[in-house]
Amino acid sequence: MTTDVETSLRGPKAYDLARKAVEAMEAHQVWPTALNFELWIHYVTAKDSALATEIDTLIQAGEPFTEAVGEHLAAQFLPKAKLNGEILEAGQTLSKELDSVSRAIESARETSEAYGQQLASASESLDGEDASAIKSMVETLTVATRKVREENHALESQLHDTTAELGRLREHLEQVRRDAMTDALSGLANRKAFDEALERACETDGAVTLAVVDIDHFKSFNDTWGHQTGDQVIRYVASVLGRSSPAPRLAARYGGEEFAIVFPGESARAALAVLEACREEVSSRILKRRSTNEDLGAITISAGIAERKPGEGPAALIERADGALYASKRGGRNRTSCADPIAAAA
Ligand code: GH3
Ligand code: MG
Ligand code: MG
Repeated sequence: MTTDVETSLRGPKAYDLARKAVEAMEAHQVWPTALNFELWIHYVTAKDSALATEIDTLIQAGEPFTEAVGEHLAAQFLPKAKLNGEILEAGQTLSKELDSVSRAIESARETSEAYGQQLASASESLDGEDASAIKSMVETLTVATRKVREENHALESQLHDTTAELGRLREHLEQVRRDAMTDALSGLANRKAFDEALERACETDGAVTLAVVDIDHFKSFNDTWGHQTGDQVIRYVASVLGRSSPAPRLAARYGGEEFAIVFPGESARAALAVLEACREEVSSRILKRRSTNEDLGAITISAGIAERKPGEGPAALIERADGALYASKRGGRNRTSCADPIAAAA
């Protein structure tokens, strides 16, 4: 699903949309399978998307919404399926390229071999021959030499094209991979990238600290200023957190208005300094609505920090960081709490 649809499914209209999708499916006699539900959620949420237009066309044509039709629509319009399709396609192009290179190499090898044989038989038959025989031999060799040269040239240019094509493919795959790991709304890493980064960090013996961040009273902000402006705020908070988290740190959008930062090799003390700086930056900025330049006031964020204990896995670490975040909320918000007391500076 596109991220806008994904976002709507975690927003205030989520259950309304789900109900609408089911009603639409029932009205058009479509089974509520998982795939159909995904398609029809899209249909009711993104009314002017290509998928919705296609479904409208089918409805108007009175086409029964069979499983095959559903699968076809999913393959064509749902990003997840499209992504798999793109990867498949890139793989196919790659293997075609490699096939044609190996065919070219094989043909060049055959030509060289034939050339070698011609040379050998020429030198054999040269022994004791007269001038005209030698002349015809030289002509044969000249033709063979030209053929080898041409073939080598063709091979070279094919290798050149293939190298360029492989470079393009690599770039494209890299882009596809980046998209699959990025949250479209905020531009930060997405949940999947976060899970992988935390998992990786927890596999090392070194220190790992996790911070979780949640925007304060965001529901009432949305209620007052609307979801779109709320999205702008999510982007703003994401930009502050992202800027403070250069690699190897990883800032991610964890869920709706929640973020997480992994600090590989860093202590809770270091993370606390970063989060406090972010918190102060966010709370001291008067936000303006982009469309109207209206003052929105300042918003605040709360954070929870936990440093991994020896042998602790990602789930337990997240739970302790969440506990610290909860303490920040209970303590009045606009603050950062640590799961464990921070040792006094050495
Ligand atoms: P608290 O200080 O306790 O965190 O209060 P809160 O209102 O922020 O907490 P709660 O988790 O109850 O509400 C989160 C709200 O965030 C609910 C929803 O309206 C909003 N939200 C979640 N995801 C998105 C999103 O992607 N965009 C927008 N604009 N709002 C979102
Ligand atoms: Mg929340
Ligand atoms: Mg909140």
